[in-house]
Amino acid sequence: MSSDCIFCKIVNKEIPAEFIYEDDNVVAFNDLNPTAPIHFLVIPKKHYDSLNDIDSKEAFANIFSAIPKITSKLGIKEYRTVINTGKSAGQTVFHIHVHVMAGREFTWPAG
Ligand code: AMP
Ligand code: ZN
Repeated sequence: MSSDCIFCKIVNKEIPAEFIYEDDNVVAFNDLNPTAPIHFLVIPKKHYDSLNDIDSKEAFANIFSAIPKITSKLGIKEYRTVINTGKSAGQTVFHIHVHVMAGREFTWPAG
């Protein structure tokens, strides 16, 4: 828990979010400013500033194994996953999160 971290506050239900999944290690909730018809974030309950700070295979597995559980529940098979790491990559919230977006066509390469 990082006391000034907005996503830790979401994990602790201190600020509201539209939760779509929760297990012992991970939560997922809808992005406040969605960039696709479906746009949610998957985050570990434990605070890590970014991908650079993940310290165990379990942490990776907990985050990534949740994603297909959520997408299959939502009935989606095609989706974009994004992790922004660091300011220049577009990271604005420094609690690691995976963006999961679906419901429209996506272009590549990313801007
Ligand atoms: P990033 O730029 O990769 O760090 O992504 C941060 C994401 O968090 C953005 O897509 C924001 O719209 C989203 N976000 C910020 N605050 C909240 C919040 N309180 N609830 C839900 N999503 C949020
Ligand atoms: Zn945090």
